[in-house]
Amino acid sequence: MAVYVYRCLSHGRFDSAHPIGTAPSAVPCPHCSASAARVLTSPNLSSTSAAVTAMMDAHGRSQTAPAVTTRPPEPERPSRPADPRIAKLPRP
Ligand SMILES: [Zn+2]
Repeated sequence: MAVYVYRCLSHGRFDSAHPIGTAPSAVPCPHCSASAARVLTSPNLSSTSAAVTAMMDAHGRSQTAPAVTTRPPEPERPSRPADPRIAKLPRP
């Protein structure tokens, strides 16, 4: 099923679903039953934002040509102990 747009002269645009290729050129308006002509519109295409496109490109590049690393990553160290008494404990 596809959604087609029709326009009634009195009530404006409305959508009507029909199987693809079988949409009539006019259908009765759901409000007044007058003949409403089919309106040709652009297909409902969506565009992807630039940020999402950049992320998808980076993901694709990482699979085929990953970045070369020269050293292991720095270990993560907490900026301060969660409990200040932990700093006073003897070290191994
Ligand atoms: Zn109408």
